[in-house]
Amino acid sequence: MSQPAEETLALDGGTPVRTAPFPSVGNAEGRTLGAEEIEAVTRVVASGRLNSTVGDETRQLEREFADYYGLPHAVASSSGTAAIHLAVAAVDPDPGDEIITTPITDAGTVLPILMQNAVPVFADVDPHTGNLDVASVRDRITARTRAIIAVHLFGAPAPVVELRALADEHGLILVEDCAQAYLTRCSDGRLAGTVGQIGCFSLQQSKHITAGDGGLCISADADLARRMRLFADKGWPRDTDERTHLFLSVNYRMTELQAAVARAQLPKLAGVVADRRAGAQRLGAALSGLAGLTIPPDEGGVSYWQYPLVVDPGQAGGSCHDYGKALAAEGIPANGGYLTRPVYRTPVLTERRTYGRSGYPLHSPPARVEPSYDVGLCPEAERLIAERLLVVSWNERYTEADVNDIARAVRKVHNAFTAK
Ligand SMILES: *Cc1c(COP(=O)(O)O)cnc(C)c1O
Repeated sequence: MSQPAEETLALDGGTPVRTAPFPSVGNAEGRTLGAEEIEAVTRVVASGRLNSTVGDETRQLEREFADYYGLPHAVASSSGTAAIHLAVAAVDPDPGDEIITTPITDAGTVLPILMQNAVPVFADVDPHTGNLDVASVRDRITARTRAIIAVHLFGAPAPVVELRALADEHGLILVEDCAQAYLTRCSDGRLAGTVGQIGCFSLQQSKHITAGDGGLCISADADLARRMRLFADKGWPRDTDERTHLFLSVNYRMTELQAAVARAQLPKLAGVVADRRAGAQRLGAALSGLAGLTIPPDEGGVSYWQYPLVVDPGQAGGSCHDYGKALAAEGIPANGGYLTRPVYRTPVLTERRTYGRSGYPLHSPPARVEPSYDVGLCPEAERLIAERLLVVSWNERYTEADVNDIARAVRKVHNAFTAK
């Protein structure tokens, strides 16, 4: 044994494994930004064309991103949440129609469903990955279901090949939320975002690549792509000469500054993902064989937005929250649960805080039935958040020494927790 079992945890007054900060997505040390992005911003400012209706950076980014993914269409927008909103608007639900999604995700997956007056329906997740469980999605389909939004959580592939087959069987649209999943590969080898009819990406500060904020949707379907493009630009058909507005829409346009930075980021993406994978493989090897701690399953397609471990509290001597606190004290950026509650337990849904005091559309009519967002709706998701999901912040700039410190701290905490 390389580590004495009695090593005192930092939580109990012992010496922390690590005192120096890690590279983080919150600062320059943990972002792959440099001279190329500075040149991009300078180029746009010098051109005097900061808006995509006069400049061509955004249109170029769309072309480059579509080509990168091998699809004919990409549509830029102002955020990942906006990108999901574009997708939902393209689905064009009637008020009260249902869209099935996951309770373990950023609210940006779910809020756009409500913005379009549709009802979010939550399916349960796989206990090992936190990604949607296909059987649970199947159980939630009704005559009012219009779409499924799958999230590739932490960069691990959701079962979208199976979900696309299910969607096709029922005439539904499958949207892939790839905000955490650039270059993730699905079970059949295809890139996440190309299996469903629409793939949505985010350029927010914490994602694999960033422009501060920003969103991108990709699609093989020209009609869906045109509807998304119109929705992001006040329904204004700029490919005609007419100043008119074809349907209720918003202004979610990306600026030329964002687009230019994103264009500089795109050639760096493959390297970012490769470095995140290499570090994750090193950590996985260093953590194998710890009772009650499961490293993320990976057949080579995971892009590691974060590094999730699944904790079995009975065997590991503590919950994910116990581990999260102990690791934080050791100087490791980790947290228990990822979320504090499943998305369906947030006030927007439990208290129907939607449009004024109407609660619209979360009652019947327009919904088929009064939706329930009670505790117990998705037991596996609730258990992951309450006890099991331990999330280590991940970064492409972690050195071998950084990864070794993380592994040493996890082993130290595991030793102490299982010695009790
Ligand atoms: C970040 C994120 C979003 C929202 O993206 P923003 O750019 O922050 O609006 C949506 N879904 C998932 C899974 C995310 O991680």
